[in-house]
Amino acid sequence: MTKIPEIFGKFVFNETVMKERLPHDIYKALKKTINDGIGLDRAVADCIASAMKEWAIEMGATHFTHWFQPMTGITAEKHDSFITPAPGGNVIMEFSGKELIKGEPDASSFPSGGLRATFEARGYTAWDPTSYAFIKDGTLCIPTAFCSYGGESLDKKTPLLRSMEAVSRQAVRILKLFGKTEVTRVVPTVGPEQEYFLIDKEVFEKRKDLIYCGRTLFGAPAPKGQELEDHYFGKLKPRVSAYMKELDEELWKLGILAKTKHNEAAPAQHELAPIFTTVNIATDHNQLTMEMMKVVADRHGMTCLLHEKPFEGVNGSGKHNNWSLTTNKGENLFEPGKSPHDNAQFLVFLCAVMSAVHKHQDLLRISAASAGNDHRLGGHEAPPAIISLFLGSELAGVLEAIKADSDYEGTGKQTMKVGVSVLPEFPKDSTDRNRTSPFAFTGNKFEFRMLGSNDSIACSNIMLNTMVADELRLFADELEGADDFLSAVHELVRRNIKEHDAIIFDGNGYSGDWVKEAERRGLLNLESTVDALPYYIRPENIDMFKRHGVYNETEMRARYEILLAEYSKVVNIEALTMVDMVKKDYTPAISNIQRNLCETILAKRNVCPDIPFEAEKLSLQRISQLADRIFAANGELDDALKNVPTGTALEVAVYYRREVVSRMKTLRALVDEIEAHSDRNFWPVPSYGDIIFSIK
Ligand code: ADP
Ligand code: MG
Repeated sequence: MTKIPEIFGKFVFNETVMKERLPHDIYKALKKTINDGIGLDRAVADCIASAMKEWAIEMGATHFTHWFQPMTGITAEKHDSFITPAPGGNVIMEFSGKELIKGEPDASSFPSGGLRATFEARGYTAWDPTSYAFIKDGTLCIPTAFCSYGGESLDKKTPLLRSMEAVSRQAVRILKLFGKTEVTRVVPTVGPEQEYFLIDKEVFEKRKDLIYCGRTLFGAPAPKGQELEDHYFGKLKPRVSAYMKELDEELWKLGILAKTKHNEAAPAQHELAPIFTTVNIATDHNQLTMEMMKVVADRHGMTCLLHEKPFEGVNGSGKHNNWSLTTNKGENLFEPGKSPHDNAQFLVFLCAVMSAVHKHQDLLRISAASAGNDHRLGGHEAPPAIISLFLGSELAGVLEAIKADSDYEGTGKQTMKVGVSVLPEFPKDSTDRNRTSPFAFTGNKFEFRMLGSNDSIACSNIMLNTMVADELRLFADELEGADDFLSAVHELVRRNIKEHDAIIFDGNGYSGDWVKEAERRGLLNLESTVDALPYYIRPENIDMFKRHGVYNETEMRARYEILLAEYSKVVNIEALTMVDMVKKDYTPAISNIQRNLCETILAKRNVCPDIPFEAEKLSLQRISQLADRIFAANGELDDALKNVPTGTALEVAVYYRREVVSRMKTLRALVDEIEAHSDRNFWPVPSYGDIIFSIK
């Protein structure tokens, strides 16, 4: 039995290792950098680098890398060995402070949205000392931010760190008004629940769509899906259990607080949730978790699918972003508290989230927008594409009472006066939560459920931190000038509820009625990525990110272009894969099926003309007709791909959505229909049943 405390953080250059290996004054300087963002001087950096190198070599590392998160949403690393030539044809192992702090990868091949012309392709990476260095596969990985020489961010970490600063700055202003002068920093904390599928590697390797696209582009439904609800929280199969154990251990060694694991609703679907931590670390850890999920699956002869919708007809995979704000004194700002004073503070922060979510529905929606997630959002298992906020009936009742200046049952029938009345206890119990809500208050944190399993959580948290910072800024501006603080708080809370409670919805988010109701309320319903992305560069959004120093306009336009281009590229790859599979796999198979039927008919006729062959004839007829239609539909898709217009990134993406995605759907339906009627021995790829029940 492995003892968890002994292996936990084994591969991490964490507090304990730093304390052990760094001279005391150096350790203190580093802590100051970590806690207060103070820069490091070269001598200190050299000393840290040397200690890091010694430790890494003892742990078996030979290389180091600046590990960063370019705008592709995955991680990037370029490995350099520690070797330096020494006299006598020898080498010594070296690693300087300069190499620790700054790297200069040739980064011309990463998407930059035009931020960096190729002739000046160099970007640089800069150490984020708030996220510990770690060893992965014999390489010392140093978490870094990635910027252009002009200082524009080319990654997801830089804006995330900036957004953390923004929300901290504004939250500290508010807390000061509540007398919390000792609070100097407020940190967003995040616990991302991660869903995934596990399938047998042999099955995976037989499907080009899974190999190229991470999802199936064809496939008739299996007789059994998830309708019996026998998988959710079900007993783990031995192979899955062995996988989860090894995954946990690998994650613990990397200092990741893997906590909960269970089977999810769909067959072959599972979930892992860590204990929450500071958002930039949670983001790094979630990237590492996704990576390790794939690595460990491979060792067990399985493939881990992180695609948002690998299979039609069964649930897709999401990621739940649990988010809260905590002060450097350890207070969770979304904990309602027990006294009227605490309750007032809670209501201010709650209102900031409520109005932020109402005003910036577009940004939250965009943070979950991708070609893959388009197949999931709005389905029956996923939140709808409409953003709303679930508070639970008690809290919603309190807000209602404040708004109406009326009595609230739970408070002994007194009028709700912020700062005077006591709030009732709100349940944290997960059983009565509304699981259809995209954004839910769950007792002391908010759970944003729209993200796809493959998404980096950086984007949604950049949005959340910044939009809440912006509301807190407005609140602080108003309250700082107030004569009577508590009355001003009451007025502010009340006005905000009046203006923004249209975003609160406690009903069934999956129902058709909600779509109509949301429209009546004026809420956005941005069905697809292409519908959502143009909102990103609305002048109000650009102004807001600029105001808080999170993005400048150039950085936003670059991201907008990259997201659109990525959408088009993904759809293009999928469509090309479909055309290829139809030509090279399905068409020959369908010919064989028809030949087989013809042969049977002929044989029957020859042997004994009286024997009926109506069944074969009808099958042959149906398949021939479908085969013709498939040929035509495949040709149409092929043509659509050859006629992609030149135009803006948006025009191209709109074309893919309108002209390509629709043709993909038509083609798929036809192929799936033949599959449903065909002899399995002739079918060239594993069926849905073969795939989703491949782990015995
Ligand atoms: P459920 O499936 O019911 O939503 P889980 O226990 O699977 O609940 O996940 C809840 C997640 O929320 C965990 O990752 C947990 O660490 C995280 N969490 C709890 N408190 C906070 C907080 N204050 N800030 C951020 N995340 C939190
Ligand atoms: Mg959850």
